Amino acid sequence: MNCLNPDGGNPCLVCTACLAIDDGAQDISEIDAASNRGIDDARMLREEIRYAPVALKYRVYIIDEVHMLTTEAFNALLKTLEEPPAHVVFILATTENHKVPLTILSRCQRFEFKRILTSDSVAYLTQVARKEGAKLVESAAELISRLSDGGMRDALSLLETCISVAGGAEITPELVKNSAGVAGSEHVFGISEAILNKDYPAALKIISDLHNSSKDMGRLLQELIRHYRNLMLLKLMPDNPDTAEMIVIVSEESAAYQKLTQGYSLQQILKNLEVIEEYAEKIPRRADKRLAAEMCVVQMTVDSGQWIVDSGQLNKPVMSPQTPQPQVQPQPIAPPKPQSLPPMNSTQETAPWASALATVSRLEAETPAELPPPVAELQPVEKIYSFINLLKQKGIEVKER
Ligand SMILES: [Zn+2]
Repeated sequence: MNCLNPDGGNPCLVCTACLAIDDGAQDISEIDAASNRGIDDARMLREEIRYAPVALKYRVYIIDEVHMLTTEAFNALLKTLEEPPAHVVFILATTENHKVPLTILSRCQRFEFKRILTSDSVAYLTQVARKEGAKLVESAAELISRLSDGGMRDALSLLETCISVAGGAEITPELVKNSAGVAGSEHVFGISEAILNKDYPAALKIISDLHNSSKDMGRLLQELIRHYRNLMLLKLMPDNPDTAEMIVIVSEESAAYQKLTQGYSLQQILKNLEVIEEYAEKIPRRADKRLAAEMCVVQMTVDSGQWIVDSGQLNKPVMSPQTPQPQVQPQPIAPPKPQSLPPMNSTQETAPWASALATVSRLEAETPAELPPPVAELQPVEKIYSFINLLKQKGIEVKER
């Protein structure tokens, strides 16, 4: 709108106005509403807009994250937005339309921006690279567009970095990864494969290595979410051409994805996604982020059926005195010898509650008469304490661990 020779609505980029804007003209102001959201900021803006532009036709105010303004600030601006001076244009940017008051929305022209499709982004990057005389491998272009998540500006700036790093050499995915400062996706494949193979030591080892190389654990979980989402879509509609648009996979990963989608059931993928999402939401508040990531992976391994003692079984009411069910005892526990407690410190693979619960179940079955009636309704943990008390009353020495 400030360009002196616009071409079909596009700026010419060569006139004095375009060059001034490119140079950071003072008539263009970008305001971050998230940090200038109060009524005083709005009043200051109201004062400022009375002045005529210095060099351009219009003073332009770009208010980013406009939904963050307070109601008071909106009210103070309302009059200004209703009838701005002829030399002022406001551009309100937001991702949350619904938070902008209707009175303001109704006075706006709306332009909706969409994420750029991967195929379009790859085509454009390839074109730009060719113009710059750079050799951009297709899988590298895919990786750039994936890393910039549909934003062309980020994609172009990453491409620019890659071109200068490559210095005339071929731009490969490896080079893109190094330039962007991201680890490859090997660790994500490693973790998901370990979980599929019920190999929790391998999964934990990967987390440990990532932690030692200062990998952000929250980011790791985000990568895992994206990875399992890819798996979900590939599992559901492997041959659908839309799938390729909905996910971004670099060509060299497709074989590994194919292998994983064959191994995983859809149910496992969904369960794992749920577990990771839960931890990803909690992790910013956790003091020990590594532990949270470890717990997340362990939980996923449990869900793939590795550990017999899962939370479902722990919560299951322990059998009632009338129906002893020794067959459904958790597998890793050695069958207890009559009248002797199994060791309280159970093996590493078994949840500590398991052996205590087994003991409780056995004693319950053996000594139904001793049980106060409400015990059957108690939670497993309460049952254990109830039994400890019972044993103490009978003069049996109990070590609480
Ligand atoms: Zn121009």
